[in-house]
Amino acid sequence: MSTMRFCCECNNILYPKEDREQKVLLYACRNCDHKEVAESYCVYRNVIDHDIGELTQTLQDVAADPTLPRTKTVVCALCGHPEAVFFQAAGREEEGMTLFFVCCNANCGHRWRD
Ligand SMILES: [Zn+2]
Ligand SMILES: [Zn+2]
Repeated sequence: MSTMRFCCECNNILYPKEDREQKVLLYACRNCDHKEVAESYCVYRNVIDHDIGELTQTLQDVAADPTLPRTKTVVCALCGHPEAVFFQAAGREEEGMTLFFVCCNANCGHRWRD
């Protein structure tokens, strides 16, 4: 499965982008205003009923997963690494969908939620 997506308006590469207000993942074109909702995160829906603490192993694997989007809009609170993998998963029921971040520093692996 390729993670490369291209803008249907101008054919430039689309970059993953988190929409913190809507709590959804988007692919956004940097050349024009085109955005589309990312749909390939359903694999992580299987963590729905688990608490974040039980996700430790899953999340460490996530940081090494090259198919997941990375963001440089966040900084790891533990090691200051300026890049993190992010994905969307359901937290506790009352919280709805949540964005999770995992530090890309392999020696750190710090994870946090939006
Ligand atoms: Zn475009
Ligand atoms: Zn870190």
